[in-house]
Amino acid sequence: MPDLEAIRAFFNRRIAGQSIDRVDVPIPVVIRVPREEFVRLLTGDSFGEVHRYGKFLLFSLASGRVLVVNPMLTGRFAYAQPNARKFARTCLVLGLDNGQELRYADQRFMGRIYLVTPETLNQVPQFAEMGPDVLDPKLTEEVFKDRLRKHSGQIKGILVNLKFVAGIGNAYSDEILWEARIHPYRKRTQLSDEEQSALYLATRSVLEWASKVVGDLMTDNLDYQEWRDHLRVHRRGGQPCPRCGTTISEITAGQRITSFCRACQPEPSLSLPSSLTRG
Ligand SMILES: [Zn+2]
Repeated sequence: MPDLEAIRAFFNRRIAGQSIDRVDVPIPVVIRVPREEFVRLLTGDSFGEVHRYGKFLLFSLASGRVLVVNPMLTGRFAYAQPNARKFARTCLVLGLDNGQELRYADQRFMGRIYLVTPETLNQVPQFAEMGPDVLDPKLTEEVFKDRLRKHSGQIKGILVNLKFVAGIGNAYSDEILWEARIHPYRKRTQLSDEEQSALYLATRSVLEWASKVVGDLMTDNLDYQEWRDHLRVHRRGGQPCPRCGTTISEITAGQRITSFCRACQPEPSLSLPSSLTRG
């Protein structure tokens, strides 16, 4: 999410009011609209404001339509002169009237691009299912806890579930849980009210901090890879925890890597029920 937020801000500073003079679709597989229709509808339209909701970027257009991009894990944007080298597997090129090109490339073709109206936005797969965006000011502590109660299972799985809150990916779920000192495999039903509050505060602080860091790293040519150097625990297995020095643990389950500190984030089995400790 912080990466997309930085890209959103980048485009908002540059493409508002620019008209789309040319639409090239070198690789149509990611575009979920028939190619002819996509090119016809987009050519001559102009960009308005760019919004982000969860992991979707929404480019509003003067026609009222919305160009929706869900880059998933492998989508990359570029903003460059037409003669600048293209990324491999560039799927879409929009030539703007300022002479620049907005491009979308996708190494594994995982992303999805739609062209919709505000009325049909909810037909975009996953869109209607999303909970509030993680940076939405309406996501107060009360709303957050209320939504938590509707989900069961391991807390990490809930954090990355877009139906709970949209925009927390695998990497940032690890960062949030580390910040809140909660073990990723704790059950939601085991979390105390204080821990749920800590989780809310960590969600907010980690993502606001990371959005700022990533925004500052954004270069002028949108030379975008993945900004991961600032992360404190995710994919830092074997390195010392920046808080306590304990070696960070890393577990791969399914296709998901989970990193955490066993000292800062104690396992549920190690914490005795309060009835025992109080004797
Ligand atoms: Zn630690």
